[in-house]
Amino acid sequence: MLKYWKIGEGGIRMNKAEQLVVQALKSAARDERMKHTVQQSTELYPLLWKVAKRYVTGEEREAAIPSAREFIAKDYQISLEFIGENTTDLVECQKAKDEYLQLIESMGASSMKQTVSFDLSHIGLSINAKLAYKHLVELAQKANQYEITLMISMEESSKTSDILDIYKKIASRYSNVGITLQVHLYRTEVDIQQLIQYPGKIRLVKGAFQEPTDVALKRSEELNKRYLYYVEQLVNANHPISIATHDEVLIQEMEQRRYFNQPNVEIEMLYGVRSDLLHQLKAKGYRCKVYLTYGREWYLYLCHRLAEYPENLFLAVADIINPFMLTKSEGY
Ligand code: FAD
Repeated sequence: MLKYWKIGEGGIRMNKAEQLVVQALKSAARDERMKHTVQQSTELYPLLWKVAKRYVTGEEREAAIPSAREFIAKDYQISLEFIGENTTDLVECQKAKDEYLQLIESMGASSMKQTVSFDLSHIGLSINAKLAYKHLVELAQKANQYEITLMISMEESSKTSDILDIYKKIASRYSNVGITLQVHLYRTEVDIQQLIQYPGKIRLVKGAFQEPTDVALKRSEELNKRYLYYVEQLVNANHPISIATHDEVLIQEMEQRRYFNQPNVEIEMLYGVRSDLLHQLKAKGYRCKVYLTYGREWYLYLCHRLAEYPENLFLAVADIINPFMLTKSEGY
């Protein structure tokens, strides 16, 4: 698992074919026409759904809630996301917001004091910031009622300023709303200084989107150093933090530095990725969280998971031929 890179090696080592595959997948992720073709196709959709099922709990909330319960019964915390982004139709944005309200209601009814995650562009930002904020206030009020945390995901760098402006506005009213920051963006160094002043949890991720080189760092030793530096700042400030990475080398380093012993620190990984590692960390008594998703808009999400780790393409082929049959929390 550690073969791609270690701190000190200065970057992920991929052969030419793997680099081409990653670039192709990242472009496919942003290709709205391709996404539409997949979603409308009676052949492609079911085929790729077999692959997506490894990372997505189901197409409906009714599948996601029992999965969440399984993980909670095993002493994990969970985040739940109804997948979707870049929604430009007003009615669809309202539907997404309503689905989130119902998700919060369902979690509240089961006393799940857990986390709900979402993209602001799913609930209005792709139309305008005012609409996204209006919907966010509704979600924050409802979540507050049930002691549920909301985590705002971070999207492409073209949206970062808008997302952070909305976050700052909501965070001064609701402390149960947190924000995701991408370590690969150069601007994060400045953003983190401001965001640490707000009470909301900060989730640190490396960054999933392909960005220009003047905006973001690539996977590298420098990126890992920055990740550790930001975690250190948040830990020293005793700020609530979610360490959202599957990078075993980074995790080992943070464990040695005893960051996971801090009460405000949790480790969060995506469902279907490095379940073995999260299981080991939980067995050591650390707070571990699984990020669960559901919905039919899994196209972009799947492209990212395959692009992050090209070996997943082998699993994809296997899953198409021999569908993935694990029960949800098996391996955790
Ligand atoms: P990498 O350097 O990408 O990978 C390090 C090692 O981790 C790999 O060598 C491999 O062993 C393992 N690994 C990583 N990915 C996979 C995979 N898909 N399958 C199998 N093994 C893998 N990104 C955003 O841009 N915005 C967000 O809001 C956002 N939210 C996230 C929330 C959570 C809880 C998590 C865990 C990630 C989120 N991401 C988000 C994705 C993140 O930015 C990275 O793209 C992703 O986590 C992979 O990076 P990494 O830190 O695991 O390290």
